[in-house]
Amino acid sequence: MLIFWTIVLFLLGAIVGSFLNVCIYRLPRDKAPWRPQRSYCPHCHELIAWYDNIPLVSWFLLGAQCRQCGSYISPRYILVEFLTAALFALSFWVLNGRDEALPVTAVYLALMSLLIAASFIDLELRIIPDSLTLGVAVLAPVVSVLVPWLHSNPPFGRAYVFFDDNVLGPLCASLVGMAVGALPVWLSGVLGKMLFKREAMGFGDVKFMAMIGGFLGWKLVLVTFFLAPFFGLIIGVIQLIRTKDHHIPYGPFLSMAAIIAMLWGDRIFIATGISRLF
Ligand SMILES: [Zn+2]
Repeated sequence: MLIFWTIVLFLLGAIVGSFLNVCIYRLPRDKAPWRPQRSYCPHCHELIAWYDNIPLVSWFLLGAQCRQCGSYISPRYILVEFLTAALFALSFWVLNGRDEALPVTAVYLALMSLLIAASFIDLELRIIPDSLTLGVAVLAPVVSVLVPWLHSNPPFGRAYVFFDDNVLGPLCASLVGMAVGALPVWLSGVLGKMLFKREAMGFGDVKFMAMIGGFLGWKLVLVTFFLAPFFGLIIGVIQLIRTKDHHIPYGPFLSMAAIIAMLWGDRIFIATGISRLF
C-alpha cells in the first residue's frame, strides 16, 4: 500500500508541477493562471493539444520544441514537473505515520508547491510576486486554526504559543511565526545594507519568510532561517566562479530550507541543540 500511495503522490505531483509551470509564466506577467484555461505556446500563442501537454512525458516526446512553431521549450518545464513529483512522493514517505499526518501533509504539499513556483519566478525575474507572499500569508492564521496540528506536535516538542486553547493557540502560533520569520531577514537586510552598502536582502524575502512562518510556526521558521545560508553559500560560490555574478536570488534557498524544515525540522531543532536555548 505504501508503494501504491507513493506512486499516486508522484503522479499527482507531476500534474501539480504542470500547473505550477503555468503559474511561473503567468503570475509575474499579471495574467490569471486560469485564463485562458488551456496552455499556449509563449512564442506563437498557439494552444497546446492535450497530448502535447502530458506531464513528464511530452517535453521528451516533442524534443523540447513547440509542435507549431518549433521554438525551444525550456528544460524548466520538465524540471518543475519532476521536482514537484519527487517532493510529493518523498513528503508522503517522511510524514506518513506522524500524528495527524494527513491534514498536515496536505498543507505542506500545498506550501511546497507555492515555494517551487516562487523560487522559479525569483530565479527568472528576481522578484517574488505579492500574490504568493502577502496574498497567501493572510490565509496562514485561518489554515492554522483549521489544522492546529501544524503548530502542535508533542513528541517533537512543538507547542502553541501563549494559549493552550484550540483556536487562540494556533492563531497566536501562526502570528508569532510570521513575526519570527520576517524579523531576522529584515534585520539582516538592514545590517547588510549598512555593512556592504548594497541591497543584500530584498523586502520580497521578508514577506516571503513571514508567509512561511505563518504556516510553520516560530521554531521551524527559525530552522529555515539558519539553514538557508548553507544552501546559499554552496550555490553562490559555484555561481560566482561560473559567472562572476554577485547577485543571487535568495528565494530558492529560503524555499529549500523551508522544505527541509517541514520534513526534518523537528529533528534538526533537537539535534543541533537550538531547542535547548528556549
Ligand atoms: Zn509555438
